[in-house]
Amino acid sequence: MLEEITRLISLQAIDRDLHELEESLSTIAGRVEGLRQETEQLQAEFDRFTQEEQQSATNRRQLEKELAEGEARIRNKRMRLNQVRNDKELLALGHEVETLKETNQRMEADLLAQMEAAEPRAQRIKEVTELLGQKRSELQAVEKEIASQVEDLKVSISKQRVDRDLMARGIEVALLQRYEMIFNRRGGLAVAAAKGGTCQGCRMRLPPQFYNEIQKHEQVHYCPNCQRILYYENNRVS
Ligand SMILES: [Zn+2]
Repeated sequence: MLEEITRLISLQAIDRDLHELEESLSTIAGRVEGLRQETEQLQAEFDRFTQEEQQSATNRRQLEKELAEGEARIRNKRMRLNQVRNDKELLALGHEVETLKETNQRMEADLLAQMEAAEPRAQRIKEVTELLGQKRSELQAVEKEIASQVEDLKVSISKQRVDRDLMARGIEVALLQRYEMIFNRRGGLAVAAAKGGTCQGCRMRLPPQFYNEIQKHEQVHYCPNCQRILYYENNRVS
């Protein structure tokens, strides 16, 4: 067999291994990344609710203070009402009291709404806090569990890359490029056996004359149908 074809077959075995190793690595990395994103989302939700809660607490305190001030003002005006004898002044004071009461009612409604919103928020904060704790420990466990796996995979990958470089060195650049292109386009099978008159890559029957040529091993042949690099494989059971 042609030396280059032998090298290409070995290269293909390495490339398939490499491909598998890289897939495993990216699957593992994807799992961790997914968990990390979920954790971040929960953290963002927690931060948002906490901030809302703080803002709402400030608003509530402010409203309570203003309400108390309003009540005091109303009490003052009412005391004055008892002392005033002038009709015009009475009318004006009465009007002021009404306005103050209306303002207080609005603030009370506002306060009530804020208190009502605080309840489901507190519930959600509690839930998110629990979930966040779960996700964090899950993430930690997964990270710990896969750390050695990832390390092993990375070592294997870099070893295979060294082997690959050595193997590729003996192959003509144009042929290597063609091999790589077919490998990527044809699902990781660029070098296929021609066996029993058929391309084993695409199962197409090869023209007899062409099939004879392949058996001579004088040059590199490509399948006329799938463009894969062909090598002859004896189909007799030995
Ligand atoms: Zn083919």
